[in-house]
Amino acid sequence: MIRQFELVENVKAYDLSADEDALNRAYVFAMKAHGHQKRASGDPYFSHPLEVAEILTNYKLDSKSIITALLHDTIEDTDVTSEDIEDQFGNEIAHLVEGVTKLTKIELQSAQSDQAENFRKLVLAMSEDIRVLLVKLADRLHNMRTLQFIENTEKRRRISLETMEIFAPLAERMGMQEMKNELEDLAFAELNSDARSSITARLQFLRDEGKDNVDAVVSELKNTLEKEKLPANVLGRQKSPYSIWLKTQRKNVSFEQISDIIAFRIIVDSTQDCYAALGVINQAYRVIPGRLKDYISTPKPNGYQSLHTSVIGPEKQRIEIQIRAKGMHEIAEYGIAAHSLYKQNGDAASGKEFRWLRELLEILDQTANPDDFLEHTKLEMYPNQVFCFTPVGDVIVLPGGATPVDFAYAVHSEIGDHCVGARINSRSMPLRTELDNGDQVEIITSQAQIPSPIWENFVVTGKARAHIKRFIRSREKEEYISLGQAILEGAFANEGYEYTETIAHDVLTVFNKSTIDDLCADVGAGHITGLSVVEAVFPGIKEENKSRLLSFARVRSLRKKSKVNDKIRPAIAIKGMIPGMALHYAGCCHALPGDRIVGIVTKGRGMTIHTIDCEKLEDFTDTPEHWIDLSWNEEELDGFHVGHITLVVGNTLGSLGKLCTIIGNNSGNISNLKITNRTPEFFDMSIDIEVRDAKHLTAIIAALRAIPEIKQVERGRS
Ligand code: MN
Repeated sequence: MIRQFELVENVKAYDLSADEDALNRAYVFAMKAHGHQKRASGDPYFSHPLEVAEILTNYKLDSKSIITALLHDTIEDTDVTSEDIEDQFGNEIAHLVEGVTKLTKIELQSAQSDQAENFRKLVLAMSEDIRVLLVKLADRLHNMRTLQFIENTEKRRRISLETMEIFAPLAERMGMQEMKNELEDLAFAELNSDARSSITARLQFLRDEGKDNVDAVVSELKNTLEKEKLPANVLGRQKSPYSIWLKTQRKNVSFEQISDIIAFRIIVDSTQDCYAALGVINQAYRVIPGRLKDYISTPKPNGYQSLHTSVIGPEKQRIEIQIRAKGMHEIAEYGIAAHSLYKQNGDAASGKEFRWLRELLEILDQTANPDDFLEHTKLEMYPNQVFCFTPVGDVIVLPGGATPVDFAYAVHSEIGDHCVGARINSRSMPLRTELDNGDQVEIITSQAQIPSPIWENFVVTGKARAHIKRFIRSREKEEYISLGQAILEGAFANEGYEYTETIAHDVLTVFNKSTIDDLCADVGAGHITGLSVVEAVFPGIKEENKSRLLSFARVRSLRKKSKVNDKIRPAIAIKGMIPGMALHYAGCCHALPGDRIVGIVTKGRGMTIHTIDCEKLEDFTDTPEHWIDLSWNEEELDGFHVGHITLVVGNTLGSLGKLCTIIGNNSGNISNLKITNRTPEFFDMSIDIEVRDAKHLTAIIAALRAIPEIKQVERGRS
């Protein structure tokens, strides 16, 4: 276990501006926080964060990363809170430690192979700061190094699988070859220990046979290059058992056939020297054809650059050689972590070869001080996506801004259609809540629930939107059909006729409809008025209705013609009328029996009836001679009259149907309906209802006000 002063010295060796005091305080803070806690190995728990910190000093990370490593398990495993850390070490460190804690929590989810890529994306998306990911990788590396102390086989397997599928590929993506190799090999030892033992046995055999004469090959390669005035650092490294195993799988050969177990590296000063060295090697040894790969002119996506070749080497053995410049080597071994050093060396041009890091480097280029590199490389890898979990640990990928409704539809359209609520990270939250990376989302469903038009306001996925729209449209149509049928029945009755489907069928072509349902739906939606359907059936009554002009004579003749229902018929029974004068109701106030009324005589239009409180009457205050006092003739009042109401109705499914039912139950007939404005939340509409008198209409209004779907209802003043 590294000692406190050694750790601080290590950091100071490469980071002159390291915050020595904070490092010392973090060391003591973490040691105290973990107290007597023990690892599975029996070591004091504190040895773990300390080892993680040490791993990261090998990558020469800034002192804030090292402090984060020391503190990384305190929030999760001790009484320490992020507030405590903020108090002691400031906001930035607290944020970094919280980031690592968050990543630790998502590890607890299951890691299924088909979900691996999504998991990797999730980890990247959640590591808002690249240092969070670097600490997490070092944490995982140390946990893998001490995996054998965990007794539970299942747990060891799960951690190894996760390492193989999530963390090793992430290390590779970060360009950290060395870490990737070690993670893979440790996981391999757990997941396929038989294969690994066979390979290590073979390696041991080759060593014993003296076949891995690494030192001899290294010095001969070195001499060959020096003769050509190419000073180079030559390294020989045994390949990892896992990479050998992959090779046997890929080439379908047995371990016994594997002979090239050492990879040689030639490290020179410049890109130019790389090609020069390749020329020297090709001259000196027999080249194995088809093995040359130029990753300098075409780097790998993670920025890796090298020349690869295979030759029959100095000891007449087949060997693989990688040739690279110093900067390339650092990147190949340490990946993004090498960048802070790399920039300081002033060799920025090669850094641009990191394709996936290009954006990050652009941020770097804007911040003049290379020391700021790590601080400014925020990992905004997937800014337009969020990664969430189902309760069983599946990852659901959604666009940014997505809500539980989007999530529900992404899981299954049935779940979407019936979702009534959501629990996000075990807390009940509104369906319109924006989801965050790593949220665990549980959708609560009810078979009674149906999609709400309001959802359309906040869903962001096409799938959710399409399902909601389709559902609403089909349900709306059903409602409009029954509403339209009620309107038609009322409109026909209003004129003294009975509405039948046969009648409707006869006029379908007039309205260019193919079915009665289509006609009713359009009437219900207010696109066709009930009256126009009546007029289409009985063209004779069109003129009168157009002007809504009714004379006594007309009323009487209609009464006589009335075939159907004697009690439903228009009647005007008013005292004070001038006999023979045309009479109509003002559209502004729709007077009903029971209202106090007044008549206004205008030239050419006859008499118009207003209620006494109608605002329109103000227009006639200067011409009192036009005013005629009227009253209802109670004895003659036996028919129905058209009252008018305006409403604001919640745009939820079923609300229009309820409206219809309430009016019907209160013996009102809807004779016309118009939707004047429609938003996702509300309908504004006006309705003509046949009622006995003002009291009857007031009763209907009162009944309507009692249902919550109806937000507002007033006697019409249209
Ligand atoms: Mn840890």
